[in-house]
Amino acid sequence: MTATLDEPLGFASAQVHAGTDVDTAFGARVTPVYLTAGFVFDDFEQARDRFAGVDEGYTYSRSGNPTTAAVERRLAVLEGATSAPDAEAIVVGSGQAALAVAFLGILQAGDHVVSAASIYEGTRGLLRENLGRLGIEVDFVRNANDPDAWRRAIRPTTKALFGEPIPNPKNDLLDLETVAAVAREAGIPFIVDNTLATPYLLRPFEFGADIVVHSASKFLAGHGSALGGVVVDAGRFDWSARPDAFPHLNTPQRALGGRSYVEAYGRSAYAAYTRQVVASRFGPTLSPLNAFLLQQGLETLSLRVAQHSRNALAVAAWLQVQPEVASVDYSGLASSPHHELAGKYLPDGQGSVFSFTLRGGEPAARAFYDALRLFSRMTHLGDVRSLALHPASTTHTLLTEDERLANGIGPGLLRLSIGIEDADDLIRDLARALDAVRALTELPLAG
Ligand SMILES: *Cc1c(COP(=O)(O)O)cnc(C)c1O
Repeated sequence: MTATLDEPLGFASAQVHAGTDVDTAFGARVTPVYLTAGFVFDDFEQARDRFAGVDEGYTYSRSGNPTTAAVERRLAVLEGATSAPDAEAIVVGSGQAALAVAFLGILQAGDHVVSAASIYEGTRGLLRENLGRLGIEVDFVRNANDPDAWRRAIRPTTKALFGEPIPNPKNDLLDLETVAAVAREAGIPFIVDNTLATPYLLRPFEFGADIVVHSASKFLAGHGSALGGVVVDAGRFDWSARPDAFPHLNTPQRALGGRSYVEAYGRSAYAAYTRQVVASRFGPTLSPLNAFLLQQGLETLSLRVAQHSRNALAVAAWLQVQPEVASVDYSGLASSPHHELAGKYLPDGQGSVFSFTLRGGEPAARAFYDALRLFSRMTHLGDVRSLALHPASTTHTLLTEDERLANGIGPGLLRLSIGIEDADDLIRDLARALDAVRALTELPLAG
């Protein structure tokens, strides 16, 4: 019996029911951890049929696994919801793996990507260095909410647009509908990294995105005990409209009996190719154990993200009025230049990751950081625990100081990922850290 009912489920119901079957062997209610490399064939004929795809059973866990498949079905429902009922999810070993697989499912040497400039540093490195070495070029758009800036960057070889709705650490929100409109008029797929918003706060398919990527290591899992990543294809992009632009999806394949991916899978051609040819050959497979842990985390996503967002707003509002704090970058605050976009894209909460800048520069940031007790000093985010990081000396050291300043990442900037603890306890910890900053300037000079 399947728990996927005919009537559409609300988000909170879908996060605990979508995509799971009661286990047929023993009736286990929770999808068991099928921690096995491969699956036995009954006989010669079944082995042949499984390879031919005639029998849909499993063969080897790099190509598919029941624990993994259950979490993929649930993620597809949560991201697709009502706007993309044909969405398909592919889970992989980390968020970086998801980004690599998502891009490699589209791009080949000679192709070009246009990305918003304000993105995760790991993705910037992937685009610039790793894909760059494969002959794929990238341009970054600084005024990412200006459609003409995207249009000017697009070339005949541009095959993907990329952006993040909530870039960290600056919370400079991306106007998804504006970029999606440019993508549509140019016939280019729009890939969105939705890690910081999660499908609870924002479903980019509703605003015209074609492919959504997540680091599942963050809010989706939430417990901070496993890495994971996911690529979700809305199943809407027309890959056959410009067959020369996407030759791998439009040329006959021996594996498909002479048909192309588009002929065999229609609008799901990208998901099929990315799963069968990219993820399974490059091989960044998610362990079934981590798929299980991800599934456990997903079941409380809405509760956690709502609490994360409430706490973040309380902490950001408190920080904003402290004399040692020069500015707070949180789109939930009326003072944010992105507050209006937050009203449109993030009406249910503005997430939990933001930065603030201390007036005292690096010495203040150092004193603050070392005085934290409840916040963990970590380069992770979206955990149930609150975390803090100093980007200028850690994640952003590959940028020059000029580049960092152009991105608004000064020496006094700290990034917080607010957890689900009691807001009062978090504020007490931050107040103690601000005491340490004040003590710097109040040191007696002599005697
Ligand atoms: C963490 C993160 C990634 C990378 O994910 P991993 O799971 O750490 O590999 C990609 N994009 C964003 C926005 C992230 O926060």
